Formats: sequence, structure tokens, C-alpha cells
Amino acid sequence: MRRCGVRGCSCADPRLLASVPNAVTLARTALSLGLVAAAAAERSWPLLLAAYLAYWVGDVADGALARRLGQETRLGAVLDVVCDRLNCSSCALTLLLFVPSPAPVTVFLVQFVLVDLVLSLLPLRWPVLSPNYFGLVDPLVHAANWHPLAKATNTGLLVVLLVGVPDHRVALTAAVAVLVAKTASLVRVLRLPRPTSAHVVPVGPVGPVGSARATRPARAARA
Ligand SMILES: [Zn+2]
Repeated sequence: MRRCGVRGCSCADPRLLASVPNAVTLARTALSLGLVAAAAAERSWPLLLAAYLAYWVGDVADGALARRLGQETRLGAVLDVVCDRLNCSSCALTLLLFVPSPAPVTVFLVQFVLVDLVLSLLPLRWPVLSPNYFGLVDPLVHAANWHPLAKATNTGLLVVLLVGVPDHRVALTAAVAVLVAKTASLVRVLRLPRPTSAHVVPVGPVGPVGSARATRPARAARA
């Protein structure tokens, strides 16, 4: 397939399995799982924090490396989404050992492992490299879910509120609000018209890809 020139279109997928970013994804997943197992066995808060950090730092690093090396692939995006569930859910389950009320973590787990998993894989119905480029299809859903700030909030807010705010009803309210927002995003994506081209056709002002506006998707679709 000829490349259309739209950054983030799946026609630019290098179809790599063995790549540096994928190795980083697997390494950070294994490291975080090891730390979380030690944290649970020792009931150690610092080890749990280290497990979260291995997950967060590794998750930022694998994505940044993929972009810098030109090794973004749809397979890598799926691997990343699956490994995020492993790391984040194991960390959150261990967090239950340290908090008096299980409700905020339980709501978070339902949101992250059920709703957000489906929501993160649905963008691959469209010919985009990963959810990070879903702004080419729906800028609003992209901004609410895959803008770097939105991603950091989704996994980090719960921990910050549970640790920083003594009243756990605050964390519960935040977790419910995120669940509602994620469900609304899921419904919106399910209602979007299905793609008609083998290439992504950008709509409106796009999120992460400033150059996409200057491209010629109509011509590209015929290429
Ligand atoms: Zn394309």
C-alpha cells in the first residue's frame, strides 16, 4: 500500500514485531509486576510506589521511543494497551492492601479493565496507528482520553487522591466521574460512522499531529 503522508495513518505501519519500543514495553511490564509482587508480599508502600513508577516511566518511554525511532505499529499499540491493564490493575489491586475503603479502587478497576480496555482498542477499527492518533477521527474523544494530560489523569488521579485526601469519598467521586466520562466516550465512538477508506481521512483541527492539516487526504484516499 502506498503511503498517504498523513502522520498516524496505519499505512505508515512498519509491521515490526521485534523492536526497541516493544522490548521496553515488555521490560517495564515485567519490572513493575516483579515490584508489585514484592510490595504485596512485604506489604511495602515504597515498593508499590516503585511498581507504579516503573509502569508510568516505562509507559511514557515506550511511546516516546516508538515515535522517535519511527517504530509506531498497530501491534505495538495493542501490546501497550494490554500491558497497561496488567501493570495498572496489579498496582491498583495491591493498593487495596493500604487503603481503608475498597470502593474507589473497585470503581477504578471496572473503568480501566472493562470500559477503557474496549475504548482503547476501538480506534483500531479506523486506519490509525494507535489511539494516540484518534484525533484524526474524533478530536473530542481523543482530547478526553488520549491527550497526555488525560492519560496521566486516568491512572494517576486515583493514587494522588487516595494518598493525599483523607476523606476517601473524594477519590470515589472522582473514580465514578471518570467511569461516567469513559462510558460516554465509548458510546460516542460506537456511534461514529465506520471508516470508508483504507487511509485515515482527518477531520477538523487535529490533536497531536499539526502537520496533518496540510496534507491532502482526498487525493491520498485515491492513491
Ligand atoms: Zn494512509
